[in-house]
Amino acid sequence: MKTKTTKPQSRRPRTLDQLRDDPRVSYADMEMDEGVRQYWVGLKNGWYVRGDTANHTIHEESLRAVFAQFYPEPCECSEPCRVAIAAAAKGA
Ligand SMILES: [Zn+2]
Repeated sequence: MKTKTTKPQSRRPRTLDQLRDDPRVSYADMEMDEGVRQYWVGLKNGWYVRGDTANHTIHEESLRAVFAQFYPEPCECSEPCRVAIAAAAKGA
């Protein structure tokens, strides 16, 4: 029996777990590097963010900074992205 946890996803994720649940996110991790938190968020093919690097990965030292960048847009930078975004548009 399924528990009823399928309420509509809020538009804006606020935690790493919520980022991981976002269909546009491939991975969301935090690691410590010489005592400094490092957040890494990878977007799936077909999505990118306009950040310092304008690519498929967000790398920041705070979640606040991550979410400040987390406005994924459809990406057609390469064949894998074009294929993925076309599939998503069809609802695949
Ligand atoms: Zn791309």
